[in-house]
Amino acid sequence: MDNSLSQILHENGLFAKKSLGQHFLLDINLTTKIAKLADIDENSIIFEIGPGPGGLTQALLNSPAKKVIVIEKDERFAAHLREYFNGFGDRFQIIEGDALKIKPHEILNELNIPDAKPTIIANLPYNVGTQMLINWLLGPEKAWPMTLMFQTEVAMRISAKTNMQHYGRLAILTYACMDAQIAMHVPRLAFTPPPKVESAIVNLRPKTQIYTNLDALSKATAAAFNQRRKMLRSSLNSIGNAAQILEKANIDPTIRPENLDPEGFFKIADIISGN
Ligand code: SAM
Repeated sequence: MDNSLSQILHENGLFAKKSLGQHFLLDINLTTKIAKLADIDENSIIFEIGPGPGGLTQALLNSPAKKVIVIEKDERFAAHLREYFNGFGDRFQIIEGDALKIKPHEILNELNIPDAKPTIIANLPYNVGTQMLINWLLGPEKAWPMTLMFQTEVAMRISAKTNMQHYGRLAILTYACMDAQIAMHVPRLAFTPPPKVESAIVNLRPKTQIYTNLDALSKATAAAFNQRRKMLRSSLNSIGNAAQILEKANIDPTIRPENLDPEGFFKIADIISGN
């Protein structure tokens, strides 16, 4: 453990708040390993969501990245980080606020940095991490590489392939834009305080050709997976004439959603949106 960081937390009474999903990584060896999973170079503009005490931030600042921008909701940590990373000047920027509302692409546009390679690297708060990923997939951030920590079950839902137990909406929406792979498992005891469940880091790399009809895809996958056990000829009736949609898409009407590949859902999404 990085003594100075845990000592600072202790001395300043910076206890973890459950409501903000706070579980900290204080071991610089571990955070350095995590930073190495991302492809950082001197043009990288890193957005870190929820830096907390700054264990991962330290590793990101030790990388060759041009700039590290952190977004933190907890004002106690915002104040601590300002002081702790004061020596990094303009290379470190802190934005105090809610990352569910703040759009990284807008911040990047304002900065207007030539040859910028934006990326998101974060140990996300578990309670809102999935929603943050969905927001980025629906926005221009979908074209950015990301290296993100989630609880293992969510990491599996993001990276699952067709026919797998965790395959569903999240895997399909992710697959539309990104190649997703679990890059590292992190045991619960690596965190202070330890969460109840294990964690994993997902590497997300934008596809060269992304599927852009995401609103319709979201609708189609919601209809199918909200009734996971049902055949599509039944579940898709909530968004249209299931038999007609499936015939047009040339998909077996008796198939269940976990057995239909993302490309099949893309066809359904195109049909229901009249594309
Ligand atoms: N990155 C730190 C680390 O690895 O030690 C902390 C990770 S902790 C799992 C999640 C962090 O996200 C906390 O610092 C928490 O305050 C912050 N957070 C929670 N909700 C947030 C939100 N909506 N917007 C920005 N930060 C948030």
